[in-house]
Amino acid sequence: MQSFDVVVIGAGAAGLFCAGVAGQRGLKVLVLDHSPKVAEKVRISGGGRANFTNRDIDVRQPHKHFVGQNPQFCRSALSRYTPADFIALMEKHHIPFHEKHKGQLFCDRSAGDLIDMLLTECEAGGVTRRQPCGVKDIRCTAEGVYELDTDQGQVQARKVVIATGGLSIPAIGATDFGFRVAKQFGLRTVDPRPGLVPLTFDGAGWAPYAGLAGLALPVIIETGLKKDRISFHEDLLFTHRGLSGPAVLQISSYWQPGTPIRINLAPEVDLPAVLADAKQRSRKLLANELAQWVPSRLADAWTAQEPDWQRPVAECSDKALARLAERLSRWELVPTGTEGYKKAEVTLGGVDTRDLSQQTMESKQPGLYFIGEVVDITGWLGGYNFQWAWASAHACGTSL
Ligand SMILES: Cc1cc2nc3c(=O)[nH]c(=O)nc-3n(C[C@H](O)[C@H](O)[C@H](O)COP(=O)(O)OP(=O)(O)OC[C@H]3O[C@@H](n4cnc5c(N)ncnc54)[C@H](O)[C@@H]3O)c2cc1C
Repeated sequence: MQSFDVVVIGAGAAGLFCAGVAGQRGLKVLVLDHSPKVAEKVRISGGGRANFTNRDIDVRQPHKHFVGQNPQFCRSALSRYTPADFIALMEKHHIPFHEKHKGQLFCDRSAGDLIDMLLTECEAGGVTRRQPCGVKDIRCTAEGVYELDTDQGQVQARKVVIATGGLSIPAIGATDFGFRVAKQFGLRTVDPRPGLVPLTFDGAGWAPYAGLAGLALPVIIETGLKKDRISFHEDLLFTHRGLSGPAVLQISSYWQPGTPIRINLAPEVDLPAVLADAKQRSRKLLANELAQWVPSRLADAWTAQEPDWQRPVAECSDKALARLAERLSRWELVPTGTEGYKKAEVTLGGVDTRDLSQQTMESKQPGLYFIGEVVDITGWLGGYNFQWAWASAHACGTSL
């Protein structure tokens, strides 16, 4: 049986980074992954350019950008390995990048640069990588040594790091391995569900909007009530099955099935005021007036819903205009569901942080660590999930 100091399971963002850090600290590290391709999720991330971190992370207030039963858990790791640290690493490897809006940093060329960097860091640490190599069984002996039956023979190590990510995008190798290992060793888990995912709608209520697929516009979207209320000012995209775009992906991580979302489709204008003004001076159809403030396809679809709205604005009653303004600025609708793990960028839930150390990511099962998305910490869209992967991997890799 081959012996290592550490076996890292999962050669994705967190696993490769952790392996490189631990290897460069002198540990004999094996990283293995059942997929034939390395870090495939990193490769497809950020539209192929990997939004690898976000400059706006507020490490003192992680609940602002991270979701989970206890977002405070990520504070320690995030404050010890910051976006500036990862940017410095990118610069050391001469990888060009740029900032898009809201602090989001992307590779200039492709996510392949990021993967090459992670692999170079592993090489610098003398890390052994085996792919494709699945794990059939994992046991802990009475002496606290882990024995793994893998597709390439048996290996043993005193420390095992689970970095197998979430359930999103099974087509590229996502599995529930981490959840199963946690349960095997008696650790608690928070039920998983898709996050950063398009929402779906069906039935008669959706029929007026079914023809709007492809249409995008800036909106304010919100869900929840009172202290649970959360809102985003982002772009909305109509799809064939419902709604997507950054606004909907963000809200999906907070949306509770069966509850409504509310959308202001014209957040930049005071609709009651501009419609009342139009009534005084315009001879145009209401739809044509409305098209100054929302895309014309949307204006047509909305005004087609009531006979009172299908006439010149000057002939519309004050009540009809007020109703239209109210409904456009507070469009309330209940999603039927989500596009599921096939389309979700992340998985909410995961290994319960109550059973993990926030300093080292070691679980209550000594020698067993969990890092990255498999933990019940999920970031907003915009580079937050990768920063959690790097920070949790670094906290773990330096403590092993
Ligand atoms: C389409 C898309 C775009 C995204 N874009 C961004 C972005 O721009 N910015 C951002 O911050 N986040 C983005 N994310 C989220 C981000 O990719 C993940 O949060 C991040 O990759 C998590 O890192 P991880 O190492 O925990 O898991 P992963 O990177 O998913 O790695 C897990 C690894 O474990 C392996 N594995 C799984 N099961 C097993 C098993 N049973 N045995 C062995 N190996 C196994 C998998 O093959 C995989 O290689 C995106 C996600 C998707 C799906």
